[in-house]
Amino acid sequence: MSHHLETASRETIREAQGERLRETVADAYEKVPLYRERLDEAGIVPEDIAHIDDIPDLPMTTKEDFRDEYPDGLFAVEWDDVTRIHASSGTTGTPKIVSYTQEDLDIWREVMARSLVAAGVTATDVVQNSYGYGLFTGGLGVHAGVEEIGACVIPMGGGNTVRQISMLEDLDSDVLTCTPSYSLYLAERMADRGVDPESLDLSTVIIGAEPFTDAMREEIEAALDVTAIDIYGLSEIIGPGVSIECAAAQEGLHIWEDHFYPEVVDPESGEPLPEGEEGELVLTTLTKQALPVLRYRTGDMTSLTYEECDCGRTTVRMDNVTGRTDDLLIVRGANVYPSQIEEVMVEMAEVAPHYRIDLRREDELDRLEITAERHESHDGPVADLAERIETKLYETLSVSPDSVEVVDPGGIERTEVGKVKRVYDHR
Ligand SMILES: [Zn+2]
Repeated sequence: MSHHLETASRETIREAQGERLRETVADAYEKVPLYRERLDEAGIVPEDIAHIDDIPDLPMTTKEDFRDEYPDGLFAVEWDDVTRIHASSGTTGTPKIVSYTQEDLDIWREVMARSLVAAGVTATDVVQNSYGYGLFTGGLGVHAGVEEIGACVIPMGGGNTVRQISMLEDLDSDVLTCTPSYSLYLAERMADRGVDPESLDLSTVIIGAEPFTDAMREEIEAALDVTAIDIYGLSEIIGPGVSIECAAAQEGLHIWEDHFYPEVVDPESGEPLPEGEEGELVLTTLTKQALPVLRYRTGDMTSLTYEECDCGRTTVRMDNVTGRTDDLLIVRGANVYPSQIEEVMVEMAEVAPHYRIDLRREDELDRLEITAERHESHDGPVADLAERIETKLYETLSVSPDSVEVVDPGGIERTEVGKVKRVYDHR
């Protein structure tokens, strides 16, 4: 079933999904008290779920469920059968603990291998893996996939930027895997050290773990002289390798839907949305043993298309995730997504792809404060630049920032390890 499914007919895919969903629901009901309780409340017995079309009848799972059931309440196997643990740190403190059986790890390895192949990585490539190793799923997830396809992996992990640059130079890495913000940071440090990206073998950067806009992607491609491929995944579902763009078309991310079933729902009502409409991505695991997850609300905003891709793969594709449902900022009654601000500013040639958004409340009124960074190639007056940013933001957001400050190159703090933070809501 594995690789054939990438080009299978819709009917074959749906049949396999239905069968796997039935097994997953039966397993979750039998072994996880929370799911049994939820299904009982909804008046559903596992036998009611006969087909993949029945999925909207199932209750949803949220990140709060992971926290409430900390550490192992959602596990569907005994600890003896758990082969590995990962965890994702939340902003609220309690981490989400996720577990894997050996078979889960084998599937993860396979979907990650498929992802790398779709991204154009071959057995002769050297892959510098700069996702963090450890409890974060990025490092070990990508690592296993690289080994599976027979390429060479350099297990760099995050940070250590000077050494990262020497490795790129001395070991002729063809592929770099890291967050979008780190790839820009690396490009800057390379420039400081007089390393010309064109002199490197590096041709592909596989970026993920943070939302980013197309404008940001173009900055990365120009700064490192590479093709930037978007990868998606999350620990609650498996880790990296849930979906990826194919290098052939780069028109959305192929979801490995024989293992992960996607829906897009209205973030407020939770109602499923039709193909092509943007909403919140909801994922169901179809083969996970240690931690089956029914209809997980990812918080990521995207849309789906079932059209066949130019690359020949027939799997459903999701749009690049530029934001999350909880990113939404309400400023004086207007809805503002940070990605809209990013798009406007990063598209301006005079502005560097680094910014900061501060929200405060003064005298019961919201204040939106933007800090932009002057691109080093721009040496005109900054007062004029701030004014132009303000005008452009107003045209796009219909809400005027209360202040736009333009700082010198390097003036905005960089993130060397972990996920970048750009929004500071002080309200
Ligand atoms: Zn494709």
